[in-house]
Amino acid sequence: MAHVCEYLIIHCIDFRFIQALQEFMESEGLTGACCDIVSMAGAGKNIVSPGEEKERDVFLAQVDISKKLHHISKIYLVQHMDCGAYGGHAAFTSLEEEVSFQKDQLTQAKKILENRYADISVIQILAHITDDGVVSFEKVKI
Ligand SMILES: [Zn+2]
Repeated sequence: MAHVCEYLIIHCIDFRFIQALQEFMESEGLTGACCDIVSMAGAGKNIVSPGEEKERDVFLAQVDISKKLHHISKIYLVQHMDCGAYGGHAAFTSLEEEVSFQKDQLTQAKKILENRYADISVIQILAHITDDGVVSFEKVKI
């Protein structure tokens, strides 16, 4: 029997939104039984603006394996606010600037992935985290 799943979820390692992300994914109809998961600090940063080239290689190798072994056709790419890989809130002059930047990261990552994998579509998600730890998810459209 082939091991096939439709979705790959790629998100940052940050513990602050993982539980909420699982609940969001279940609300999208995705459970642990039907998706691969890759967790890397900074998520899309690893292909858009990696600190070192090897980070891009590791990221893409995981996607390659998920596609080859499980034949995924959709990727949920999750970026989040106050991400330490980008320097957190402190790296931006306002929340609006940070939101705009993260949406641009999502767009660039989507283009890179959809150019590399012609038969995969990328769904862009931005996770917002309040100072009280409340998490909400925004589907970003190009
Ligand atoms: Zn992060």
